[in-house]
Amino acid sequence: MPIFSTRSSNNLKGIHPRLVRVLNAAIKTTPVDFIIVEGVRSLSRQQQLYAQGRTKPGPVVTYADGIKSRSNHQVHKDGYGYAVDLYPFINGRVELNADKELKIIAAHIKQTAAGMDIKITWGGDWKRPFDPPHFELMEEG
Ligand SMILES: [Zn+2]
Repeated sequence: MPIFSTRSSNNLKGIHPRLVRVLNAAIKTTPVDFIIVEGVRSLSRQQQLYAQGRTKPGPVVTYADGIKSRSNHQVHKDGYGYAVDLYPFINGRVELNADKELKIIAAHIKQTAAGMDIKITWGGDWKRPFDPPHFELMEEG
């Protein structure tokens, strides 16, 4: 039964307790182990990512500039981050390109959240940006 690594636990700090609850439940029964590589983002980290593919080299990874358009990784008014990025963890390695396994994990996390009556969104269901490592808690109400 997988449990969260120190790295995963650290990246869950400051994430909304409802999303943490889903992930804590999901890790225990997941068919494929996974690791949380990013949780809460500071404004400067978001701006750094936004620069990528625009004023800095690399592919575009986000459409949120951090101010006019905020990422759900940035803290909301309640003080919590609403998004995490995670990857399959297979044979002791973070697998950045294991699309099939990530899909299996996503289905498992969605099912776990549904069972807890907690609404989440998977970035793998989006077209722009298509963002399979990304999972976020939907605002209530
Ligand atoms: Zn993300």
